[in-house]
Amino acid sequence: MTTTTLRNLVVVCGDQLDHDSAALDGFDPGRDAILMTEAAEEATYVWQSKRRIAFFFAAMRHFRDAQRKAGRTVLYNAMDEGTPPDTLAGALKAAIARHDPEQVIMVQPGDWRVQQALETAAGETGIPLTIREDPHFYATIADFEAFADGRKRFILEDFYRMMRKRTGLLMRDDKPVGDAWNYDKENRRAFGRNGPGLIAPRARYQPGPVTLDVLRLVEKRFGDAPGTLEDFSEPVTREDALHALEDFVTNRLRDFGTHQDAMWDGSSTLNHSRISAALNVRLIGPREACDAAIAAYEAGAAPLNAVEGFVRQILGWREWVRGLYWTRMPDYAGLNALEADRDLPAFFWTGETDMACLRDMLTRLLRTGYAHHIERLMGMGLYLMMVGTRPYAAHDWHMGLYLDAIDWVSLPNMLGMSQHGDGGIVGTKPYCASGAYIDRMSNYCDGCRFDPKQSTGERACPFTTLYWDFLARHEDRFAGNRRMALQVRNLHRKDAAELRIIRAQAGKLRGN
Ligand SMILES: Cc1cc2nc3c(=O)[nH]c(=O)nc-3n(C[C@H](O)[C@H](O)[C@H](O)COP(=O)(O)OP(=O)(O)OC[C@H]3O[C@@H](n4cnc5c(N)ncnc54)[C@H](O)[C@@H]3O)c2cc1C
Ligand code: SF4
Repeated sequence: MTTTTLRNLVVVCGDQLDHDSAALDGFDPGRDAILMTEAAEEATYVWQSKRRIAFFFAAMRHFRDAQRKAGRTVLYNAMDEGTPPDTLAGALKAAIARHDPEQVIMVQPGDWRVQQALETAAGETGIPLTIREDPHFYATIADFEAFADGRKRFILEDFYRMMRKRTGLLMRDDKPVGDAWNYDKENRRAFGRNGPGLIAPRARYQPGPVTLDVLRLVEKRFGDAPGTLEDFSEPVTREDALHALEDFVTNRLRDFGTHQDAMWDGSSTLNHSRISAALNVRLIGPREACDAAIAAYEAGAAPLNAVEGFVRQILGWREWVRGLYWTRMPDYAGLNALEADRDLPAFFWTGETDMACLRDMLTRLLRTGYAHHIERLMGMGLYLMMVGTRPYAAHDWHMGLYLDAIDWVSLPNMLGMSQHGDGGIVGTKPYCASGAYIDRMSNYCDGCRFDPKQSTGERACPFTTLYWDFLARHEDRFAGNRRMALQVRNLHRKDAAELRIIRAQAGKLRGN
């Protein structure tokens, strides 16, 4: 298509690869076209790993090809063809100038920044931009606002129960299946000394010609970016993403719950689904994921604690953080309740540290673009919070390395839940702990030169040292938090002289 006039120009971003997208409702192949762009800005506005860039571009190119096969025109700006626009906004303006559409249509982007840029670009051309409601999610933003309206108690648990009732998932006669809403207590077990045993490894997907082209492009264009493209085996098509979901439900779901919080040296996937990246770029939908898990429960193939735990993550947490993001942006991004002012520790880009836990988590993350929830929260995130990293810097780093990081989901999780930057909106207390937690939930400390029980001296575990210092630095704030009472009481029991030594040692870790 060259300079033809269009009726609708449908913008599809890299995280909107939904074959049933509402943006495509009523699409007329004779009069409409899809616009997709591999924009340099999206690959560089935060320092990003090669793997992350490749994942997005490969999934986009497969989506483009599937749409073309379905007879739709796709105006695709590939980074390695001609001189593509550097920004999504520039691409939109160029396409409008060329095709003079009556309107531009899309579903809500995953990033407030992108929405602003596209609205501004469309506004400057005078062509109306219609942002359609996105049925990918169970709840609309208006649903979330209605839930939040006038509520004194604003917590995930209440939102999740409301969503269970509304959708009927795991409900019978208006009651939760199994007569309990939540099986968290059964879901916090460590693996024990013998480790996780044999767990079916996740399915891997060999790159075909389209993905191989992208890998070559990324290596050439972003050779200096962190991470590696070796062993790239992510699902980047809908078929592969559906298979990855099935692989999880068949092979790992039954043990997902019990060891959901456990960590083990050398392995991140364990019993997790590893579908977040495919879900977030919408190769699969949350309904497909929850329905598949519930079907396994109903068929007797997975226990309730595992299935409820999985459904809670998607129907509860995923929808909750999205609602928070869109109802609180842009102010949310600037929150820094703990007044943290340190830069990201440099070793977070390399994994070069003596701490056995962080060394393993970070090197694996750089290799794969993945870590499971507790590694993010009670490993890497915990260290960043206690050392005093600026919460937005922590979020930027997270955006750069994880395949599943999109602003709407990374920001509330990283800045809010993990760094407590929002002062208690996502979670009512900071997730802070000493090395004892990691020792209890993993085998890392066995092979570490530090000792999780020691807070001072050569062998002091940095987590333990930082933990006491963190509590002491924020004692006044936490004293009023009922859920922190025990931790603050334990701080008060510390000998003053010992605490002084701990704090001096913590100061060195914090770069004072
Ligand atoms: C600091 C921090 C940052 C995070 N950033 C992201 C992010 O950028 N993108 C992202 O998708 N998840 C994020 N999460 C949530 C969660 O850690 C990941 O969704 C999960 O680890 C992905 O792995 P999985 O697919 O194997 O998930 P599983 O453990 O198998 O869980 C199933 C699904 O539940 C959903 N889910 C679980 N917890 C959350 C949550 N808190 N928020 C939203 N969805 C959730 C995901 O879609 C996930 O695929 C973050 C968590 C923390 C603590
Ligand atoms: S001793 Fe501390 S630093 Fe070492 S693995 Fe355990 S928690 Fe991590």
